[in-house]
Amino acid sequence: MTTSKAFAQKRDSEDPLAKYRSQFFMPPGKTRSEQLYFTGNSLGLQPKSVKEYIQQELDDWQKLGVEGHFHGKNPWFGYHHFFDKEAKVVGAKPEEVVVMNNLTVNLHLLLASFYRPTEKRFKIIMEGGAFPSDMYVIESQVKHHGFAYDDAVIEIIPREGEHALRTEDIVAKIKEVGEECALVFFSGVQYYTGQAFDIKALTAVAHSVGAYAGFDCAHAAGNIKMELHDWDVDFAAWCTYKYMNSSPGGVSGIFVHEKHGNNPDTPRLAGWWGHKESERFQMKKGFIPEPGAAGWQLSNAPVLAMAAHKASLDMFDEVGMDALVAKGKQLNAFLEQVVMDAQAANNKLAFEVITPEERGCQLSMLTNENGKALFDYLTERDVIADWREPNVIRLAPVPMYNSFTDVWEFGELLKGF
Ligand SMILES: *Cc1c(COP(=O)(O)O)cnc(C)c1O
Repeated sequence: MTTSKAFAQKRDSEDPLAKYRSQFFMPPGKTRSEQLYFTGNSLGLQPKSVKEYIQQELDDWQKLGVEGHFHGKNPWFGYHHFFDKEAKVVGAKPEEVVVMNNLTVNLHLLLASFYRPTEKRFKIIMEGGAFPSDMYVIESQVKHHGFAYDDAVIEIIPREGEHALRTEDIVAKIKEVGEECALVFFSGVQYYTGQAFDIKALTAVAHSVGAYAGFDCAHAAGNIKMELHDWDVDFAAWCTYKYMNSSPGGVSGIFVHEKHGNNPDTPRLAGWWGHKESERFQMKKGFIPEPGAAGWQLSNAPVLAMAAHKASLDMFDEVGMDALVAKGKQLNAFLEQVVMDAQAANNKLAFEVITPEERGCQLSMLTNENGKALFDYLTERDVIADWREPNVIRLAPVPMYNSFTDVWEFGELLKGF
């Protein structure tokens, strides 16, 4: 693949998604009119339509007060029903997904349902070096159930000299732990290395030993193609402010497979918003869950944050995951080539791409002792990437608003280091 400017421009001119860039606010740079923004994996940019979506709810609140619950343009009583499209992003049936709360809160709620250890079956298998919030969730859950971390949690780490996990190693460990395994809990895409795990294979082997399989899809939702329903995943959760551009600290989505969601006896922590909708305001004693993931809701919807998500979700629905993933793969492959070419052209550059082929839109570059200087050099030139200790630079060229020319320009800056 050539990495010339002409090639990048040609790709942009042929890109069916190119028009979406102008539907986002690209942050202005200090040295250039727009930043080269490669951190859509951390906080997605603001769709220009967000203001209007939030304004609608502010207007209804202003004019209708409490009546907005039933008489607003988008009645708040059933606000979560406006998010059916979320299911398409993760490959689920509409009833299997609901938007509520924030990610870490939702992980705890889902573990209340799906981590119910017994004396014999109490172990959780997860990736080593998971996102800190996930580590703390698991640590506190096992302690909450009276187990010691080292007895209950098995972390899988890469083989010596490797950066990614091999599916065969994870599978072997799950089989080895066998009937002591209560839960297999992985990220969908690993935040640090960018590795996309084989959700389908891990779910199948978890089930073969009688364990549940759950996934934190924070870096997977809106990034890779998933089929959570068909893959028979038990539960998943994700945030919407990374690849899904839905405002800082924005709401989270959860998936509960229908075989659990439609079973009213699936244990859960309950609140009034998960109660049978037709009786919700009858204020009766005795919790009857709404069928599907909706039965995991606790509280009434945070409408303003959800309105921001609605703006973004409508855009995702228009584009579709297939088109996004197709462009994302090309963009990421182009970035990899650009990075390799820059390294060949400038011997001050020394890094190794640690993101394996199974990935979404992210490259993690393991740098050497020059790494921080390189990162600072890029930041001064309005490249917004991120630095992860000890020495990884993460770059996420996202298909919704990044261009091939962005990537090419990044390469030129790299060569000038
Ligand atoms: C971003 C991220 C989180 C953040 O959790 P919040 O509750 O939204 O603050 C948690 N887990 C993973 C894997 C993440 O990537």
